[in-house]
Amino acid sequence: MAAAASQDARAEARWQAVQARRPAADDGFVYAVATTGIFCRPGCASRRPRREHVRFFDTAEAAVAAGFRPCRRCRPDHGAADPQAEAVARARRRLEADPDEPCLADLAAEAGLSPGHFRRVFQARVGLSPKQYAKAVRADRLRAALETGATVTDAIFDAGYGGTARAHADAAAGLGMTASAYRKGGAGEVIDHAQADCRLGRVLVAATPRGLCAVAFGDDDGALVADLRARFPRATLQAGGPAARAVLPTVVRLVAAPEEGGWDGAPDPPPLDLRGTAFQMRVWAELRRIPPGQTRTYAELAAAVGQPSATRAVANACGSNPVAAVVPCHRVVRSDGGLGGYRWGLARKRALLDGEAEADRDDEDWEAGADRG
Ligand SMILES: [Zn+2]
Repeated sequence: MAAAASQDARAEARWQAVQARRPAADDGFVYAVATTGIFCRPGCASRRPRREHVRFFDTAEAAVAAGFRPCRRCRPDHGAADPQAEAVARARRRLEADPDEPCLADLAAEAGLSPGHFRRVFQARVGLSPKQYAKAVRADRLRAALETGATVTDAIFDAGYGGTARAHADAAAGLGMTASAYRKGGAGEVIDHAQADCRLGRVLVAATPRGLCAVAFGDDDGALVADLRARFPRATLQAGGPAARAVLPTVVRLVAAPEEGGWDGAPDPPPLDLRGTAFQMRVWAELRRIPPGQTRTYAELAAAVGQPSATRAVANACGSNPVAAVVPCHRVVRSDGGLGGYRWGLARKRALLDGEAEADRDDEDWEAGADRG
């Protein structure tokens, strides 16, 4: 009876540590959440679970043995508390609060790392370098201001830029075009496109001078070009232009033989010119880390980008992927084994996954998943 009482007291102390997000709990326990199947350190920044869904384990190993998966955010399976994850989270909050203020040296000093080391740690966890992240945050603000209908100059100042030169340089990178071109649906931009047969029907690729900006599958070139037109209503579309013709063979090869390392495995991967919010860019960067022949669930992807409760936003970001197959959004499936959605048709998603499974027959887990799907 005394033993049971002391167990209860210990569980209560642990629950209080979880509620307080007390990072350095003295006995190194983890807590698992029955509804998500994930376990965390008490200091994890994720949403607090309800008490009745929580189980405590003395070690990460015990939680794994009971069938729980480690959180991708607090990394409870990575030895002692993860100071790097905390440093990266802190740096992200600072950049989001004011993308112009902290420089790399400041952020690195705060994390206690050299600038080069900090940049690698940040990039590995966020999918963008600190500089790219700050740029994406500014571009998000600019885009939001432009979409409220402000004039371009007002929007630039509303977004927190000190002047227009910096904003124009950033906008070209973050929006993929100048701020005024974005406002006008791609006016002043020349976008090359070209189509070819591939094993999924017709494929359209489109590219600006900066890189690949669209890949789409369809049955009919007219419909594919009409879609591209809808995405860039004011751009000059150039059929058979050189930028698109240059990347078309790489895309067709990628669809035919995804096991050869994907886009980054191409001998000389052409640059991408993706236009998205900072959140979308992070999701797309994470998608590119899923190897051919493997899948992730939307929930796993949400955990991997550090926002485990944002499953729906992650699914939307997958759905707005502009470059089919190159950013492999087809490798994300529902946790119940269902295929989920696919902008270019579920039959094509199935065909892409089946092709990759075939090229990767050794992976028995995947084979089992494919049969069930
Ligand atoms: Zn966690």
